[in-house]
Amino acid sequence: MTGPRPADAARRFYVRTYGCQMNEHDSERIAGLLAADGMEPTDDLESADVVVLNTCCIRENADNKLYGHLGRLKALKADRPGMQIAVGGCLAQKDRELIVERAGHVDVVFGTHNLQHAASLLERARLEGPVVEILEEHAAYPSALPARSTGPSAHGRHSAWVTIQVGCDNSCTFCIVPIVRGPEISRRLGDIVREVEDLAADGVREITVLGQNVNSYGRDLGAGQYRPQFADLLRALDAVDGIERIRFTSPHPKDLRPETIAAMAECRSVCEHLHLPLQSGSDRTLARMHRGYTAERYLRRLADARAAIPDLAVTTDLIVGFPGETDADFERTLEVVDIAGYDAAYTFVFSPRPGTPAADMTDDFVSPEVAQERMARLVEVVERHALEKHAARVGGMERLLVEGPSKKDPDVWSGRTRQNKLVHFSPGTEPVRVGDAVDVRITRAAPHWLRGDLHAVEPAPRTARIRIPVTAAPA
Ligand code: SF4
Repeated sequence: MTGPRPADAARRFYVRTYGCQMNEHDSERIAGLLAADGMEPTDDLESADVVVLNTCCIRENADNKLYGHLGRLKALKADRPGMQIAVGGCLAQKDRELIVERAGHVDVVFGTHNLQHAASLLERARLEGPVVEILEEHAAYPSALPARSTGPSAHGRHSAWVTIQVGCDNSCTFCIVPIVRGPEISRRLGDIVREVEDLAADGVREITVLGQNVNSYGRDLGAGQYRPQFADLLRALDAVDGIERIRFTSPHPKDLRPETIAAMAECRSVCEHLHLPLQSGSDRTLARMHRGYTAERYLRRLADARAAIPDLAVTTDLIVGFPGETDADFERTLEVVDIAGYDAAYTFVFSPRPGTPAADMTDDFVSPEVAQERMARLVEVVERHALEKHAARVGGMERLLVEGPSKKDPDVWSGRTRQNKLVHFSPGTEPVRVGDAVDVRITRAAPHWLRGDLHAVEPAPRTARIRIPVTAAPA
């Protein structure tokens, strides 16, 4: 515990994030709002006057993790009258009553559509007592939030997330996002470009564009007026001085247009990396998932992208054991994964998310033993291809943006290539800093990383930015 502080000291806030990049960026926006309201960020939970838990319900056991954390905070709050606890994000949007019922010590519950009100809700709770405010949908994209803070370690001052769209108009049967985040709302192109220009002026070299389905960006904008496509946005961002790398996630395969592939190929800053979630190689399973494409159509688009963009790295998401998945369905997934030859894949065993259609397919659930056995076989194919791709890079020179030293061994640093490959190297006596660009000669390959020798360093532009710590909870 810390000692007493002056009565007029600024209140300190601590934000803990559960879940995906979208949530981490939402936390940056919450942190920006609280800082603009005169509070100070802290990464010391014990001394925080305001604790915000930004929740996620996509991952398994998200609710258990939240209630466990809230239980620990109850004791802390009992020792520190005046401390406020706010719960926001997807789980708050979905389970608002349950949170109030199970954790009466929470002061504010807010949802995914009103994070812009976080500061005013905390103030209201100070005056009036606990507040629950959940909006069912966004009135418009809240573009003018002070979202200028930086995130957790992977996103230091050289790198920033930029949200271009919230919500999703699709209805994948395993996914809770459309329920908790609502329909798609795209942000105006001019607002996005202005934010990226500001980031570039602050020394940011790399941006990651975020949306649930970036490929449908702009569809909801300006009825009867200019309606930009994602390709137009990529071109507009590519024209911003100082931005060297543009990444994006996630594009839905059914909406990957030739225009987007052409823009990726033409734009100097758009990285040679495409994350294209396949989920399953079986057309029967894809239909049950409501994915809107067949494996053949997916592979055709992938071939188009590879033909247009030299040295394109491709990654994906795969679900094993989706309800009703037969041995034949799974064999087809293995076949398609083998043809696709991914650089990496995020593989998940299906687990039902309450509230989704797939959670009700209980009669067709695949046994955990079968799902685990399939997963082991899938990982074997994925890793074989990943290692082959990495081995082909040994001996070559790679340019990395430096992310920082390893937690286990501070003498080993890491950075990423344009293809998003993680490369470890030892700086030795070279003064390398986070955000620098370095050239590294690759000497070793493993399925998930490369190792290399430092060759040259290009220091990052130095600028002064406010750093607001935002703690990411382990997934
Ligand atoms: S595209 Fe499908 S998986 Fe992605 S957010 Fe929308 S519903 Fe979920």
